[in-house]
Amino acid sequence: MKLLQSVYDSVLARNPGQPEFHQAVYEVLESLEPVVEKHPEWLKAGILDRIVEPERQIMFRVSWIDDQGNVQVNRGYRVQFNSAIGPYKGGLRFHPSVNLGIIKFLGFEQIFKNSLTTLPIGGGKGGSDFDPKGKSDREIMAFCQSFMTELSMHIGADTDVPAGDIGVGAREIGFLYGQYKRLRNEFTGVLTGKGLGWGGSLARTEATGYGLCYFMDNLLKANGKSFDGKTVVISGSGNVAIYATEKAQQMGAKVVALSDSNGYIYHAAGIDLAAVKEIKEVKRGRIKDYLNYHKDAEYHEGCRGIWTIKCDIALPCATQNEIDAESAKTLIANGCWAVGEGANMPSTNEAIAQYQAAKLLFGPAKAANAGGVATSALEMSQNSQRLEWTFEEVDAKLKGIMKSIYESASKAAQEYTGDSNNLVAGANIAGFVKVAKAMYAQGVAY
Ligand code: NDP
Repeated sequence: MKLLQSVYDSVLARNPGQPEFHQAVYEVLESLEPVVEKHPEWLKAGILDRIVEPERQIMFRVSWIDDQGNVQVNRGYRVQFNSAIGPYKGGLRFHPSVNLGIIKFLGFEQIFKNSLTTLPIGGGKGGSDFDPKGKSDREIMAFCQSFMTELSMHIGADTDVPAGDIGVGAREIGFLYGQYKRLRNEFTGVLTGKGLGWGGSLARTEATGYGLCYFMDNLLKANGKSFDGKTVVISGSGNVAIYATEKAQQMGAKVVALSDSNGYIYHAAGIDLAAVKEIKEVKRGRIKDYLNYHKDAEYHEGCRGIWTIKCDIALPCATQNEIDAESAKTLIANGCWAVGEGANMPSTNEAIAQYQAAKLLFGPAKAANAGGVATSALEMSQNSQRLEWTFEEVDAKLKGIMKSIYESASKAAQEYTGDSNNLVAGANIAGFVKVAKAMYAQGVAY
């Protein structure tokens, strides 16, 4: 990096102890050198210095009472990163690993991802270090109500519209929405991922996983390949992993592995998704329970081992930095030729370098997993219109959006790097240009 080194140095100095945020910023800045060479006016207007600094960061105490009557205290976050092209939009993550640096990395990535969707949404992210695992429904409700009591002061249908992420699914969105309504006395599209019948959109649950497969299908087809008959490994067993498995299977692939944070299952005959849905969505169990349904499957402790399984296509759908350089090398050595990121930043920058050196077909998260937020924006449109679209309508729009994301990323990649498959650069550039133009047009306060 030449032109943007000083921006990166200042991010390091001003945001100590936030390695994930540094990593996300580095990956974007590295791609943007050729863009700012073409647009010195954006450098002069401080677009880069401004885009790495959130517009607003909110941190708050969330106190609640557990089932034993004890007071518990967690920390809540909402980072409103960039509103140049629309209201802040991005999920809420409830996981013990959450801290300000994690929320900032996610919020930063969200700016470019949301821009790529072609829909008018800015970037934000939030969450808490609360761990929903093992909590009763009453405890989850108490936490969500306390969390929303503070958050409600900062969000709104035209200001900031949160959604789900790790640890925040339909149940949590319900409790959060109920509390917002209680406090504000308004029925608006302030959250997405709502239940069907009270403002939710058909196909939102499926959207991130389906969108990932639609995106990869475009990339594979452009290179004369497809999912049909291929062996696929998918990490995680949450919302994204389950619906990526469903769509990959519908496209003719054999999915042979899934995981959670404790370990992974390998089923050579192909994953029985009905069993996984029952374990995860109905019983809220662990992936290990799959052995109760299929004795011929294997369970292995530890989640990294999943990348030692031989496959054609790997779809990491669990969490950040789950594939490091070592795992990337193992995947490649075992013949894997495509990776599509369902999770946010699941590959380290060193792992991405391995994919690029081996010329893997690589769909980076910002582009490949944008189907979830795109469908959230479609939920917002339906809420504003007071209309509900059919599953087929939403799914067709999602498919079209993923195609256009692929096309704009590969076009930018071709234009700036001469390689239409360099979607890391293509997604960063295509996402950035629209936001930069908007920030430039909107000026700086004197
Ligand atoms: P869920 O909470 O539904 O599922 C997360 C899955 O990943 C679980 O299987 C979980 O296992 C596993 N996991 C979580 N943290 C870790 C960890 N530290 N190490 C290993 N495994 C872990 O979340 P989602 O499916 O919604 O999200 C998965 C990824 O996709 C995240 O990176 C998220 O940011 C991203 N994403 C989600 C979108 C959405 O619409 N939901 C949209 C775009 C991106 P366990 O149960 O053991 O914790």
